[in-house]
Formats: sequence, C-alpha cells, structure tokens
Amino acid sequence: MIDLHTHSHFSDGSLSPTALVDYAASKGITLLALTDHDCVDGIAEANTQANKLGMRLLAGVELSVLWGNTPLHIIGLGLDPTDKGLSSCLATQCQARETRAEGIAERLEAQGVKDALNKTKQMGIHKVITRPHFAQMLVREGRCKDIKSAFKRYLRRGKPAYVRVNWVEMAEGISTIKQAGGIPIIAHPMRYGLTNTKLQCLLGDFKAQGGLGVEVISGFTSDQQIATISALCKSYDLMASIGSDFHGPETTPSVMGQLKSLPKQCRCVVEALDGEYK
Ligand code: AMP
Ligand code: MN
Ligand code: MN
Ligand code: MN
Repeated sequence: MIDLHTHSHFSDGSLSPTALVDYAASKGITLLALTDHDCVDGIAEANTQANKLGMRLLAGVELSVLWGNTPLHIIGLGLDPTDKGLSSCLATQCQARETRAEGIAERLEAQGVKDALNKTKQMGIHKVITRPHFAQMLVREGRCKDIKSAFKRYLRRGKPAYVRVNWVEMAEGISTIKQAGGIPIIAHPMRYGLTNTKLQCLLGDFKAQGGLGVEVISGFTSDQQIATISALCKSYDLMASIGSDFHGPETTPSVMGQLKSLPKQCRCVVEALDGEYK
C-alpha cells in the first residue's frame, strides 16, 4: 500500500519521522513519502528508520505557493533534499513563515492573548511555524475548544489573526521541485473552494508551467470527487497521486492504510518516479 502525503513534527504533524515510519509500517504501508510543509529536515531521520524496517521512503515536501492571489499546496515527490536551489527556496519560505508568525502573534495580542509568539514556539520542534501551532496554543490557553474552532474564530482567511503570506509563485515552485529531481503534484485540489471552471484553469496553468501530477485521492475523498478529478487528470494529461495528508493518529484517526484505490484509467506517479518524466 502506498501513501505519498504525510507530515511529521518537523512541520505540523505530531509524530517524529521515526514514529511516523513505525506507524505507517503498522498500517501496512510499503511506500511512504514524508512531505512536511516547506521543510525537508525530517527526511534523514525518516530514511534511517525506513531502511531499518525495509520500507521504501520517498523524500518529499509540501510547498506553499501562490497562484495569482490564491494560496495553494504543491507536493514535490522523490526529490533530492540536499539540492541547493530547493534549500534556498525553503529558507525563504521559512523566513516568510517567521514574519507571518510575528504578525499573527501581534493580532492575537490585540485580541487579548498575551505573549502569543513565545507560547507558540515553546510547544515543540517549531522550526517551521504553522497556523496549527497557533491553534494548539489557543486550545491550551483555553481560548478555543479545539483546533477547528481556533481556525474558525481567529486563523482562517477573513478572521482577526489571518495574515497573508507572499509564498513563492506556483511557476517558481514547480521549477524548483523539478530542478531538485522531484515530481510536482497539486495537493488536495478539491480543498481550495474553486469552481469547476477555476479548477480547470488551475490545471491548465499548472500543466503549462511544467506541473506533472494531481492528488486524485487525498484523505477521505468521495467517489464523486475521485470521478471528477480523475477525469480532469486524463483530459490535462497529468499523473495521479494518492496520500492521506496524515498529521498524527489523533488528528486523522483512521486514514493511513485505508485509502481508496486509484481508478484504473489513472497513471500513478509512482510509475514515473524513476522514469522519463523527471
Ligand atoms: P499554514 O501552512 O501554516 O498556513 O497551515 C496550514 C495547515 O493548517 C494545513 O496544512 C492544515 O494542516 C491546517 N489547517 C488549515 N485549515 C484548517 C482548518 N480549518 N482546521 C484545521 N486545520 C486546518
Ligand atoms: Mn498541515
Ligand atoms: Mn495541504
Ligand atoms: Mn499536507
């Protein structure tokens, strides 16, 4: 079984890379990609554990990008985590995250949350500061009952602590991933709230900019959604990927190891990993 989209505590996942690999093995995964947000620092540890267990591990990343004004996530799969261009792109992204974190903290303080940045940073390995870290802090402080309501009340677009980020442009994200030897894939295409027309527009732009794949199955995807995306995949001649977007046993309880299969007509990205598309 394969899972090509997972997170460790190097971004907003709850497990260490070692624990993630162990967990994946216990769920019957034989090919796993670690795809932390804007970070490849967990890959080495994940590799060591995967080698111990005889599991195949792919180095990956989930890059935050801008498509026009719309923030999107592009997965880079099977890349060289030591690539210089990639490292410099990720350093810029992390700096943008740091600057945004200061902005979020300022806004939360205006809402009466004292020392928001320090409290958030004290919560774990937070080289990559994400909004879920702020959400966890708000829950711990008793401001919100759970992560979802922290997003709903403070952190989502249009809410008081939302700060826009100048992520890398999609075209640059795609070329950075390809130059590092990876396959660029649009993550969870149904989660951006795009109309069908806009979604087609995105796939057209993505393909024209050198993009190669789309996540057809992402966590719990309905049969209707799978049918829609796999048809789009075919008409734009893009490969199909499959991943749980796992963040930890407590946040996404039963998804890992329980994903649906890709429809027969899909060309799976795994076939291209060592092949002609790179
Ligand atoms: P960031 O990249 O720091 O903006 O954080 C994005 C991450 O926040 C996503 O990858 C999800 O894990 C999480 N997330 C986004 N929206 C929500 C939401 N409404 N409820 C819970 N988690 C969310
Ligand atoms: Mn996440
Ligand atoms: Mn994502
Ligand atoms: Mn993800």
